[in-house]
Amino acid sequence: MSSQKVIIIGAGVGGMAAAIRLRLQGYAVEVFEKNDYPGGKLNHFETNGFRFDAGPSLFTSPQLIEDLFALAKEPISPYFSYEKLEVACNYFYEDGTCIRAYTDKYNFAKELEEKTKEPSENIYQYLHHASRAYKNIAGIFLHHSLHVVQTIFRAPILKAFGSLKLAYLTKSLNAYNESAFKSPKLVQLFNRFATYNGSNPYKAPAMLSLISHLEHNEGAFYPKGGMISITNALYALALKLGVQFFFGKSVQEITTQANKVNGVMVDQQQHFASIVVSNMDVYFTYKHLLNNPTKAANIKKQERSSSALIFYWGINKTFPQLDVHNIFFSKDYKGEFNAIFNTGLPFEDPTVYINITNKVEPGMHAPVGKENWFVMVNVPANTGQDWSALEAFYRHAIIKKINTILGEDISPLIEVSEVLSPVTIESKTASYMGSLYGTSSNNKMAAFMRHPNFSKSIEGLYFVGGSVHPGGGIPLCLSGAEIVSNLIKDKYSPNL
Ligand SMILES: Cc1cc2nc3c(=O)[nH]c(=O)nc-3n(C[C@H](O)[C@H](O)[C@H](O)COP(=O)(O)OP(=O)(O)OC[C@H]3O[C@@H](n4cnc5c(N)ncnc54)[C@H](O)[C@@H]3O)c2cc1C
Repeated sequence: MSSQKVIIIGAGVGGMAAAIRLRLQGYAVEVFEKNDYPGGKLNHFETNGFRFDAGPSLFTSPQLIEDLFALAKEPISPYFSYEKLEVACNYFYEDGTCIRAYTDKYNFAKELEEKTKEPSENIYQYLHHASRAYKNIAGIFLHHSLHVVQTIFRAPILKAFGSLKLAYLTKSLNAYNESAFKSPKLVQLFNRFATYNGSNPYKAPAMLSLISHLEHNEGAFYPKGGMISITNALYALALKLGVQFFFGKSVQEITTQANKVNGVMVDQQQHFASIVVSNMDVYFTYKHLLNNPTKAANIKKQERSSSALIFYWGINKTFPQLDVHNIFFSKDYKGEFNAIFNTGLPFEDPTVYINITNKVEPGMHAPVGKENWFVMVNVPANTGQDWSALEAFYRHAIIKKINTILGEDISPLIEVSEVLSPVTIESKTASYMGSLYGTSSNNKMAAFMRHPNFSKSIEGLYFVGGSVHPGGGIPLCLSGAEIVSNLIKDKYSPNL
């Protein structure tokens, strides 16, 4: 066991998972977090009897959390429990169609055949390819650094090539889906998976089709108590293992000597460590903590993922036709993505996502007879737009959309309203331009262009979280923590 110290900057999901793994390797681990709470984007709040998860709402790959507890030899049940959802999402279209996307693929295919006349065989084929690609290709991205030579020897590269379809790289996700399905409704439904990493399905490679594997082969899950339970579980486990957290402590600088890390500056005080892991957005890490504007400018060249405008509404009524996850689709999906990634203009008919945790745990997240609506639209990352004007614009567009589909005016039912914009996402979690997932995957090489999990020029400096490899989203950040801890083990204690 090592007695060296590791300093982690940021207590987001990636930072806490890295803290747990490195503590288990024997390091003394200190986490400095600028906020006075853990979790970063994975946070929650309560107001007037309504509880809202503030950021992520969809939970997939629960085994990644279980892995951390198993590694720590700590029973998970006192900390965390979850259930599989029967329906991953309810999809509403303006012609009145509602598709229940069952997590059981046979029920899902049956529903699709009934509602869209799409032959079940097409769904099975699609999900079969997604599963193979996920297991063989995504496995390399999720468990290995793409930037060290050992990956070539360790990762099952040949198996990955065997599962690689040319179309995954040559076609856009939309073109791939159009060739897989007859029904435009299904093309739109499967195009949506590009938004899971903040990308544009009309540009992002068909490789993103493998994301559908998670929901429709493995399942969508709900953590008891809401998404905040993930933060609480990781934080409690880290504390139990002896990780030290310092809240309200913003790291001002990563200090180096002879191109080696030697610690961080916090409140003008030096804290020494020969290994530092930054869970802060990588662009801001270079710009503010390493004072390296050239490197920061290089990162800035990559296109940002989309951001979001979120309205947290306490609704004075219950809607039985809605489930935990609901999508009200735009009539013009292509136009919507063109607005988000190309023109940057407000879009009149946005796709609206509504998450209602009170559906799974009635009475726990909203007063009886009421519902906690997390209402989100995708918007461009912040480039200085007038967000208060956009907030008013989207509030109107969202209400219009919901009213049309539900056939009822919801505006008088909104008794509580809070908003999160790209600007507040950036100010709360230091995520550059408020993008949800770091950089977008809108080009074929994007997966390879994400910043590595380590610095090539400063020994002892590592990176974890949504802005670096393997990417944003809770499962990817958890996988990134595993990659970082393996890189550190290989370098500093290969015999562990
Ligand atoms: C609205 C929204 C919806 C989302 N939906 C989903 C979803 O449904 N499913 C999903 O899987 N993912 C979703 N995501 C993405 C998911 O939230 C993130 O990928 C994940 O939480 C990011 O974790 P992270 O490790 O990158 O850290 P972050 O959450 O970005 O945390 C970084 C931490 O570093 C701290 N920090 C920054 N600078 C400093 C400094 N100088 N000193 C000290 N501390 C510092 C910050 O305060 C913060 O706590 C969503 C995100 C948002 C915002």
